[in-house]
Amino acid sequence: MTQKIEVVTSVLKANDAIAAENRKRMEAAGILALNITSAPGSGKTTLLEKSLPLLGDPERCAVLVGDLQTTRDAERLCNAGVRAVQINTGRGCHLDATQVTKGLDSLDLESLDYVVIENVGNMVCPAGFDLGEHKRVVLLSTPEGEDKVAKYPTLFQPADVILLTKVDLAEILEFSPETAKSDLKQINTRAPFIEVSSKTGQGIDDWIDWLKAVRAGLYPA
Ligand code: MG
Ligand code: ZN
Repeated sequence: MTQKIEVVTSVLKANDAIAAENRKRMEAAGILALNITSAPGSGKTTLLEKSLPLLGDPERCAVLVGDLQTTRDAERLCNAGVRAVQINTGRGCHLDATQVTKGLDSLDLESLDYVVIENVGNMVCPAGFDLGEHKRVVLLSTPEGEDKVAKYPTLFQPADVILLTKVDLAEILEFSPETAKSDLKQINTRAPFIEVSSKTGQGIDDWIDWLKAVRAGLYPA
């Protein structure tokens, strides 16, 4: 029993060391790195498709997209003008730092300001793996229901910003942003909560402003 626990701990330690290297490499190039986690289908790719081109030159953004199979999400992002690298995890239900290292190897980091890592859609284990990001972005979508915040605290606790997506559907789904916010207060008081809709554009400006402010804070002019 003890042995098994030691193995798990050392895997996580090795991951953390590689993640720290990833972070250093990106900092040397002036990159803000983000790790986006959420349930499958909460609108990660759509949000990135709609919002990253608004950050300025889309060529200065790259997305590393984790999915079990297919290159569909990377293709969508390429069509939006950003650079995208698909990482297929096969059976793996989360990204780890080594996979991100390989993704970074395929990019010209000096030409980038933002690297967005779109994690595999999964509300549990991605939260346990540092990938070398500076900030964690967690999405909650209105079709999932407010109760996900209370049910998956380990996902929402480490969030630096929480985006409520598909907010245009809130009324029809009787989703209460107030309930989600009050549950969040119990576990995370520091992350801003931004209500967005990739369909109507609501809140996208606030999300873009947040990204720009965080990068400016990390690399003051
Ligand atoms: Mg996706
Ligand atoms: Zn996993």
